[in-house]
Amino acid sequence: MQVDHFPNPEPNAKEVDVSSDDVDISTPNADHQSFQLYDLRVEVICPPGEHTLCGAKPGDHFTLEGEILKLPPGQGFSIYSLGAVLPLLAAKQRATTLYDWMTTDSDIACPDPNCPSKLRITRTGLRTFRRGDTTVVPLPTLTSSGPSTTERSRNDQIART
Ligand SMILES: [Zn+2]
Repeated sequence: MQVDHFPNPEPNAKEVDVSSDDVDISTPNADHQSFQLYDLRVEVICPPGEHTLCGAKPGDHFTLEGEILKLPPGQGFSIYSLGAVLPLLAAKQRATTLYDWMTTDSDIACPDPNCPSKLRITRTGLRTFRRGDTTVVPLPTLTSSGPSTTERSRNDQIART
């Protein structure tokens, strides 16, 4: 898929390079077979003075670097709150277009309808990964006219469903 525009919505986001590749996220790096994902921070926000029902305090947070979720020492996180944001995290890590709601929408309601807290997902930086460190699945065979016959056939099947 061609990414037409890939804004970095966080002005202070820093680029983290864990593989020493210098890669533009919009351009696949065939030589090094690397790709980039955003690091994320998920933080509890709550109107001042409001009582939360999910055991969270404003400022409680976790970070996500690749597939690794990190909590500050001694701080927990509600499994129900985690469940509310989990489906969004892999998409938030990846390139999205300016007009995609996934780019702009970042506050997720607490799953308890009586709790005033929200979970704010922030893109904090870019991290580069080597494909070989993340999967053993081979790349599809590409020809000058596009994906291989097998790949086209698979795409046709997907399109028909
Ligand atoms: Zn809550």
